[in-house]
This record gives sequence, structure tokens and C-alpha cells, in this order.
Amino acid sequence: MLDDAEIGRLKREVLELEADPEMFHFNAGRNTGYVQPKEGDSGPGRIHVRGDVLPMEGAVHPRSSMSTKAVLAHEYWGHAQYPRTKLEPREWNDEFRASYTAAAEAPNLTFRERQDLMRDAVKRAEEANRSIKPNALMRYFFSDGYSDPPTWWTPPKGFKPPGEE
Ligand SMILES: [Zn+2]
Repeated sequence: MLDDAEIGRLKREVLELEADPEMFHFNAGRNTGYVQPKEGDSGPGRIHVRGDVLPMEGAVHPRSSMSTKAVLAHEYWGHAQYPRTKLEPREWNDEFRASYTAAAEAPNLTFRERQDLMRDAVKRAEEANRSIKPNALMRYFFSDGYSDPPTWWTPPKGFKPPGEE
């Protein structure tokens, strides 16, 4: 269970992410995740947030070690942008897209949080035995910002390269 202090902090992160606060439901559902609108429902769906949003101490997997704000960005800037996706929920490509999109587009994340999301995207592919050839944006994040970001990428609001944070 998330306590009031944790929920208060998470709500601030939702606002920093410029996400729709109405979509977030705390201590609801079975685990943290995006729930697509039901058939015929034109709404944006819901995001359940539970205690599993908190990073696990000593976790190695990017999914478990990333910040709560990165997870919220994955749900909102990743999944919730595709409420009527044809991809199967929880399939690797749906998860890959959610983490990649959040890393590339969510406002006001740190460079480290974007790196964690990009690593998570790659990990999801690896776990499904897919090999992903990192594109220029992924290479930029994996190089710790030493390579140049691709010119086709528009850095989101609040983006700062490492060293300028
Ligand atoms: Zn997901």
C-alpha cells in the first residue's frame, strides 16, 4: 500500500510530467499499469499505481531499479498515448514502445531516467529473444551523451544533457 506521503510525492511527479492527474488511481488494481479503455469507451483509459511502483533496493533489472517518475512516464507517455493499440498488452513490443516513447518524449525527466527507460526497452526485447539494433537516439543515451543526439529528435521540455543537470 502506498501511504499518503508517497501518494503526495507521486502526484507531484504526475504534474511535473505534465500528465493528466485524472487518469491516475492510487492503490487501485492489482499492480502498477495502464488499463486500456473498454470497447466503445472514448476515454483515455486509467493508470493504476501501487506499491510496486517504488524502486527495489539492489535491483538489477532497469524495470525494478528505475525511479517512480520514470515508471509513471512509461505508463502515461508510453502506454496511454496508444489507448487503442492493436499490440497485445504486456507484449514485448508494446512494452518496448512505451519505454522508448517515454524516454524520447516525456517532459522533465533526468538524463539518467531516460537512460533507464531506454535500457528497459532493450531489455524487454532481449527477454523476448528479439535483437534490437539501437537507433541513433538510443545510441546517444547509451553513450552517456558523448555521441550527438540525432537531428530528427526534438528534445522534450526540461531536457538537459548530462553535465548540465
Ligand atoms: Zn508497460
